[in-house]
Amino acid sequence: MALLKDKVALITGGGSGIGRATALIFAREGARLVLADLNRQGAEETAAMAEKAGAQAIAIQCDVLKAAAVEDLVNQTIKQFGRLDCAFNNAGVAGDLARTAESTEECWDFVVGIDLKAVWLCMKYEIAQMLKQKSGAIVNTASIAGLGANPLGIAYCASKHGVLGLTRTAAVEYARIPIRVNAVCPGVTQTPMVDAGIAKRPKMRQTFEKIHPMGRLGRPEEIGEAVAWLSSDAASFVTGIPLPVDGGFTAI
Ligand code: NAD
Repeated sequence: MALLKDKVALITGGGSGIGRATALIFAREGARLVLADLNRQGAEETAAMAEKAGAQAIAIQCDVLKAAAVEDLVNQTIKQFGRLDCAFNNAGVAGDLARTAESTEECWDFVVGIDLKAVWLCMKYEIAQMLKQKSGAIVNTASIAGLGANPLGIAYCASKHGVLGLTRTAAVEYARIPIRVNAVCPGVTQTPMVDAGIAKRPKMRQTFEKIHPMGRLGRPEEIGEAVAWLSSDAASFVTGIPLPVDGGFTAI
């Protein structure tokens, strides 16, 4: 049977990269989808791709940094599909590359806002709805940068470590419901976010390849497959974990 048959799933950052690839895997696995992104066009394109794959999907433009917008996103999900079973809190930004002493307050506020605070905001409104249903599964996108140092990206590193704290705390708070809360920790994955970095510094591709024992970057679908499993009833006794999907990076 399809892993997510008839589940209603909300995906933030659904207009690109890992969010889009995950949406298409969720579509294959029978989910009905709400695709949220700051980039309306990206979300609409993903919705069209998911519909082509046979899923029901709607696109909603949403800035996950704004509490009222996130509350409205959950309300619109309920209005459209009547419930919320799975949420993938995945919207994120990389920020500028700089060592700690050269990094700026502006970059800190931008990155920590979207990569950490907005994940809490999304969980806050998603969990309120899941409590009414007495069930739910949330996956947050952390990173290998949430499991160790991330030279030249201190705000990103702090945010992704923070996402693991949010994940563990909410997982324990709501384990008895049960609302399961897990995190996925991708290695460097070939998405527009990473392509933009490589375009500025082409040598980074080789460096990224070398740091993974598998000798290559991840593919967005490889992250999506893990998210689909964590979101499904197949993972019914799994909560509060950071799941690395990283070609062996964290094994070293
Ligand atoms: P991406 O740039 O392709 O996608 C990110 C999406 O988030 C974009 O569509 C963007 O419009 C959206 N977004 C940004 N700010 C937003 C906001 N305020 N409100 C709503 N949407 C917003 O990047 P990606 O690589 O697919 O990244 C997805 C997630 O994976 C991020 O959280 C990122 O930190 C994480 N991640 C990526 C990698 C990687 O190597 N690509 C590795 C580890 C973790």
